[in-house]
Amino acid sequence: KAKRRGRNTFQWYTDELNRKVTERVSLRHALQQAIEQRQFELHYQPQIHHSGRVAGVEALIRWHHPERGNIPPGQFISLAEDTGQIIPISEWVLETACRDAMVLNAQSATPMTMAINVSPMQFQRPGFLDSVKNVLARSGLPPALLELELTEGVLMDSAEHTIQALKALRQLGVHIALDDFGTGFSSLSYLKRLPINKLKVDRSFVRDVATDSRDAAIVEGVVTMADKLGLEVLIEGVETAEQFHHLRMLQCDHFQGYYFARPMALSVLKHFLDSPFAATASAADPIS
Ligand code: C2E
Ligand code: MG
Ligand code: MG
Ligand code: MG
Repeated sequence: KAKRRGRNTFQWYTDELNRKVTERVSLRHALQQAIEQRQFELHYQPQIHHSGRVAGVEALIRWHHPERGNIPPGQFISLAEDTGQIIPISEWVLETACRDAMVLNAQSATPMTMAINVSPMQFQRPGFLDSVKNVLARSGLPPALLELELTEGVLMDSAEHTIQALKALRQLGVHIALDDFGTGFSSLSYLKRLPINKLKVDRSFVRDVATDSRDAAIVEGVVTMADKLGLEVLIEGVETAEQFHHLRMLQCDHFQGYYFARPMALSVLKHFLDSPFAATASAADPIS
């Protein structure tokens, strides 16, 4: 009996494995078409300064597949990273986001930063610094308005080489943010050595911040530490008024989350920034 169950389990396992391999191959082909046929779009999620003003946006890629519909980045970014397809995708993201940042800044009375997620492979490529330089030159975007979001995983390996690469980017005037802070394995000593500008506290610490005093303590501790290290800090994933109520008294520079605004297409964002709602909501309910 046990043997049969073992065989069944094995059968299930190989079927499942085959299904996954087939799915990956098909997704890889679909991605290739997406790159060639430009099926991607960038959505932008506002980042809110504690004064209530929209200080900038984060670019988040969207894939509209003609038959499968919208495929979220969580389902294809890591595959694209494995296959190398992340390189053409990332180049398109950088180019498009910088161009759109110029459009937004032409419309906005205050400077608006553009935050872009940089994948490990993209960052580690020798040509990355030059491609950032070129995109800035082509778009005319002031470097200080470009923020590159890196995850702890990127910064962990080959520390010395990484520090040099970050310094070169900082010399261009570009800003560096550490994304999903608190979920990786990097040691706190990296914060001392890495030339970064901002910590983005991962949303997993925010979810239960109203009910779990340990999460509240962690967020508060990170905000205090960032402040003392001279780093800016942004809290990600604020979804509810209740969460915000618990976070707003912290000396946190920026917030981002569905509670304030969801990621949206450029055309929608333009209206959002123009709308008296965005202006009065922040004026009537200043964050600090
Ligand atoms: P991330 O950089 O940490 O981006 C934040 C993610 O959280 C986004 O998911 C965003 O839509 C979502 N989010 C924002 N506010 C809230 C909230 O209040 N609640 C919840 N539950 N979620 C919120 P998205 O767009 O699905 O992107 C997922 C991840 O995919 C990103 O995480 C980033 O790591 C990666 N990604 C997205 N766009 C790009 C890109 O252009 N290039 C690269 N390399 N990676 C990207
Ligand atoms: Mg990010
Ligand atoms: Mg994040
Ligand atoms: Mg993330």
